[in-house]
Amino acid sequence: MSLYRTDFECEDLGNGIYRINEYDFVNSFLVIGEKEAAVIDCGAGVGQLHDFIRTLTDKPLKVLVTHSHADHDGGAVWFDDIYVHPNEFRRCNMDRQAWARFYFLHQHEYKRKSHHVSYFSVFQKDRKTQVHALNEGDRFDLGGREIEAFFTPGHTIGHLTLRDSLTKALFTGDNVNPLVTLQFPGGCSVEEWKESALRTLELAGDAVIYGGHGKGVIPKEVIVASLALADRVLAQENSPKGTVAKLRGEEKLPCIVYRTDRIHK
Ligand SMILES: [Zn+2]
Ligand SMILES: [Zn+2]
Repeated sequence: MSLYRTDFECEDLGNGIYRINEYDFVNSFLVIGEKEAAVIDCGAGVGQLHDFIRTLTDKPLKVLVTHSHADHDGGAVWFDDIYVHPNEFRRCNMDRQAWARFYFLHQHEYKRKSHHVSYFSVFQKDRKTQVHALNEGDRFDLGGREIEAFFTPGHTIGHLTLRDSLTKALFTGDNVNPLVTLQFPGGCSVEEWKESALRTLELAGDAVIYGGHGKGVIPKEVIVASLALADRVLAQENSPKGTVAKLRGEEKLPCIVYRTDRIHK
């Protein structure tokens, strides 16, 4: 078997949109227009996403990244060009190195083993991917539909939400998942996340929200419940600096994980 696997799980979401799941680690999305196709997040890079996408479309590809965490941009190594918010450039350059993907696999040992993902799959020839800026208001015309970028910092300082003009569907990466994680280096305050989450709900209207993990669809009630948790955090006094706290909903999820010195802006 080749080191570079292409056996991704793929779900046809209709209207030229596909959810592509990389061994339970993460979702990427493919949005196909009349002239071009957008790849929204490019996976952890342990499967050969580019070759898999070529089984779905032969159109020119624009790779748009919601944020630079190794599970969302590690697969940049398979593409010549990617677009990401400038606040994410530094981490994005790290994620394209083999050790970052190695470390990512190591952190997810259970999933790695259950999907028989080899550590050797992280060693690829660096194709010198060009990283381009993607900013609020940028639009990509795919032919018959556009993808527009919205700046929604929270989970990371340069997190973007992308919207398909045809279906109005939003692609929210890791920003409004049932488990809201703001504690990583380069994460934002609870207050900043709250503004972005409110904006996400407003942008979504009646349209579907697709997130970067699990089965993809994020019910709006989950975001509403996470916002209520955020309000409870904001109403508290700050706890000792530099520690991480968790606030859970009634059930285990939604849950918000934040640094106690990053509550207010
Ligand atoms: Zn992330
Ligand atoms: Zn993620």
